[in-house]
Amino acid sequence: MVACTLCPHLCRIPPSEVGICKVRANVDGRAALPHYAKVSGLNVDPIEKKPLYHVHPGARLLSVGFLGCNFRCPFCQNYAISQSTLAQTRTLHPHDLPGLVTQAGAQGVAYTYNEPTIHWEYVMEAADRVHDAGLGNVLVTNGHLNPHPARELLTKMEGVNVDLKSFSPGFYEQELGGSLDAVRQFIALAAERTHLEVTTLLIPGRNDSDEEVSAIASFVAGFDSSIPLHLSAYHPTYRYEVEATTMQTVHRARDIASQHLRYVYTGNIADEGETRCAGCDATLVRRRGYSVDRAGLRGHTCASCGARAPFLWFGESGRDRSGRA
Ligand code: SF4
Repeated sequence: MVACTLCPHLCRIPPSEVGICKVRANVDGRAALPHYAKVSGLNVDPIEKKPLYHVHPGARLLSVGFLGCNFRCPFCQNYAISQSTLAQTRTLHPHDLPGLVTQAGAQGVAYTYNEPTIHWEYVMEAADRVHDAGLGNVLVTNGHLNPHPARELLTKMEGVNVDLKSFSPGFYEQELGGSLDAVRQFIALAAERTHLEVTTLLIPGRNDSDEEVSAIASFVAGFDSSIPLHLSAYHPTYRYEVEATTMQTVHRARDIASQHLRYVYTGNIADEGETRCAGCDATLVRRRGYSVDRAGLRGHTCASCGARAPFLWFGESGRDRSGRA
């Protein structure tokens, strides 16, 4: 048996077998990642798609995805690459990433699509290469990572978006196969170490009650009331046949969460959104889909009152990495 201590599952892996994530393995009595550098998805995405609304609005990122996941979400939108290792991949070594980013006219790399933290060694190495080239790194994760590897990883990220899928320990255990406590702990570490945004996919009847939305927003606000919260609409996929979330539900949840947090955004619905200045309430950035209008900004400040806008910018030095005001 080989013990893997990367995530809270703490798998004990028999010879020639894999852990719960399907990608970390016991190879000749050693814990290994045979899927190292096997990339399942490679696209240039707007940063708004991650979503990270308070990091360099309008930036383009080279988005890299792998295989496997340490959760079993029955509503996974990327189940072909997260719940199976049979999808096609290409080999892409970390040292090749900066050149591809520059070629694409992008500002950095997003580790995303599947659960990237189970490819910890790759992301650590890639993040260094990307930083060495003067580019940025962001992470999109379920936050199910143990504290020691989490601390090391988070210090290499300009921004992280954590999926907080519910505020019910039972939902995490029974539906997702994970631990809410572990995710809460990861969020606490991320709030201390980097720029943090949180996303909750609202699933009708599962996690969208007024009480649960309020509990999620209140928990996030406990770290900082200016942490952005994204409330997204669910659509039936994979094993879930629950009906899609309505726009009314998303708006109701936004109004509840806004009682705790300054920046609450809606997603996966045909909605316009904006970020307003904390100083004078003028519109700084207006968003429609993934297109961004930055007319309310003058440089990094509000065009109306000159207050610092609540955004982190790639390549900016000497700024609190949280990007928060
Ligand atoms: S990373 Fe994979 S192998 Fe390691 S403990 Fe988590 S699920 Fe198990």
